[in-house]
Amino acid sequence: MAFEGLSSRLQSVFSKLRGKGKVSEEDVSQAMREVRLALLEADVNFKVVKDFIAKVKEKSVGKEVMDSFTPGMVIIDIVNKELTELMGGSQAKLAKANKPPTVIMMVGLQGAGKTTTTGKLAKLLQKQNHRPLLVAGDIYRPAAIKQLQILGEQIKAPVFSLGDQTSPVEIARQGLQHAKENGNDYVIVDTAGRLHVDEELMEELRQIHEAVNPDEVLLVVDAMTGQDAVNVAEHFNNQLQLTGVVLTKLDGDTRGGAALSVKAVTGCPIKFASLGEKLDALEPFHPERMASRILG
Ligand code: GDP
Repeated sequence: MAFEGLSSRLQSVFSKLRGKGKVSEEDVSQAMREVRLALLEADVNFKVVKDFIAKVKEKSVGKEVMDSFTPGMVIIDIVNKELTELMGGSQAKLAKANKPPTVIMMVGLQGAGKTTTTGKLAKLLQKQNHRPLLVAGDIYRPAAIKQLQILGEQIKAPVFSLGDQTSPVEIARQGLQHAKENGNDYVIVDTAGRLHVDEELMEELRQIHEAVNPDEVLLVVDAMTGQDAVNVAEHFNNQLQLTGVVLTKLDGDTRGGAALSVKAVTGCPIKFASLGEKLDALEPFHPERMASRILG
């Protein structure tokens, strides 16, 4: 499971602190050195770690903490709160258009899980009694359209496609029109990905953005790729103004760096986490729950 290494490292640091009736500044410094190493080893961005440790330390060495009956517990609580803040504080909700349909554009590198996440998100919306339309805008990857159609059949959601000979910009535009005419209150546009960030793709995504004016631009990133995921997020955000991130493959043995860095580095909240290949494996991302899970 994700975060295993980080989680056990932090738990061992804190079990030492927890037992202490009195905590000295040196104890705090020692604990923070260990937390710092644990975070770096979990592939958390260097600068993010530095800021995090500085904040926790500043709050931990105050007289109030040192004089409390259970200083170790107070410090753990401070770390918990800062971890939660690091991941965005509270749950970032999906935007909703004033006038339906709400348009969601899915972007990301090939293999990150964009197409499957499109299906999962539609399923999540259906559970809330919405009627999403899926738009097959990835005309380059062989079988991407078919993949979306199969997902659509599985969850009984309509899929709008114009094959692979029409431009994705036109497909997105007509897909939106189709949703308006058919009473779909959400439109989820799947777009093409490449193996690496590339300028031609960015230009196409910008054009799709202009054509459908999305309420959400969700970047799907593979949490297993650690700092690369954060770099990708930074790049996409500079080009497209993302509104949120979806972290996939959190069921794998990711060290967790992406989850802990992406909000701080890009300013973009993580809105969903995907924890498996199954269609119901997508969940709204709860920073406080994730922090508690990491701290055990
Ligand atoms: P796309 O190229 O970004 O559209 O990627 P796909 O949606 O085709 O997904 C690529 C692969 O990742 C597929 O085999 C998915 O089943 C798998 N995948 C996506 N999300 C998750 C996840 O949360 N956990 C796991 N284990 N696999 C995932």
